[in-house]
Amino acid sequence: MPCVYTAPQGLCDGTAPLSRNEHYLPRALGNFRDNEPLVDRICENCQRRFAQLEDVFAHNSSEAFFREMVGRVGRKNHRNKNIFYEPTMGIPPLAVLGRHPGHEFEILWEPVGQTGFRPMSQLVFIGRDGRSQALPFRRGVTNADKIRRALAVHRVEPAQIVAVPNSDEEAEEMQALTDELLPGGRQTEMAPLVDGAQIDGQMNAPLSAQYLRAVAKIAFHYFLNYFPQFSGLEGEFDNIKRFIYTGQSEGQVVLAEHQPFILELQAGGQLKRWGHFLSAEITERSIEARVQFFAGPPVQPFVWRILIGRNPARIIYNEAIGYAFLYFEDVGGDFHGERVPLRETRRVLIPRRQPILKVYRSR
Ligand SMILES: [Zn+2]
Repeated sequence: MPCVYTAPQGLCDGTAPLSRNEHYLPRALGNFRDNEPLVDRICENCQRRFAQLEDVFAHNSSEAFFREMVGRVGRKNHRNKNIFYEPTMGIPPLAVLGRHPGHEFEILWEPVGQTGFRPMSQLVFIGRDGRSQALPFRRGVTNADKIRRALAVHRVEPAQIVAVPNSDEEAEEMQALTDELLPGGRQTEMAPLVDGAQIDGQMNAPLSAQYLRAVAKIAFHYFLNYFPQFSGLEGEFDNIKRFIYTGQSEGQVVLAEHQPFILELQAGGQLKRWGHFLSAEITERSIEARVQFFAGPPVQPFVWRILIGRNPARIIYNEAIGYAFLYFEDVGGDFHGERVPLRETRRVLIPRRQPILKVYRSR
């Protein structure tokens, strides 16, 4: 079988030998016991090409963040942990801060498609001195205590809270929170953002096309490894392969999703260990993967949903295969962690609507 990137035409020329050892999970993330490399599916030329994407991945996902995290993962001293967590508390490492159009404060944005961004569900706290702090909002997870702790760390005493919900349910929960945090505040509504609102150049965007291609590559190679009934040469995978190889694609390949990866977390629980989560799922119509990197006890970064392609199989079946790559308490040994099968991985999709800003001001 040739390198999977020999189709569609114009990508790999198929002249290089196949790699015996393609790591779908970048080595920069660590060495995990029981992990299986992809064998004889990708050629060495393609592997070299993708190594550049992985460099971007390792740097853009903040190597410093990673080192810090893995270095501290084994420490029993919780004070140390808190010092690390709290400055970043609640803020996903890949969140993008950008000024809200027409306002002075910055809000958190998430990517849509390969170049667009939209506001995340969040609460923005604005102090009397004008300084502001945006904290992502998750239904059933975000509570007044967590917010107070985060604000104490950021030294913001809110005189005004801007709520950015993406659903009525979120708006309701946010209102209860703001009532608790800013009793007696009054509420006004701001105009909703128009879709595709321009956010200006102050945006600090660590996401690049290469980063998203690296995410797509990890997901696609993961799928190839765990669903060997597909050769990877099927035409249904042309789009994702072209995207990984060149950055060109029809439609979005990598999308950000807000649902926690794991059912336990959907129920509002907390992870006990740091790790990465990968799953691929086949339904009658399509093949999708979901990945999440650097998820840990207090931090829930984006879950990426990757559209691998339509299901090329003649037979109809539903199957999801998921693994967690969890760091050990002590990362000083030969392995930094281990691969653990996930029994329950479920895709949960929620429609997102235009956010409506609700502003709460103290009197
Ligand atoms: Zn190749």
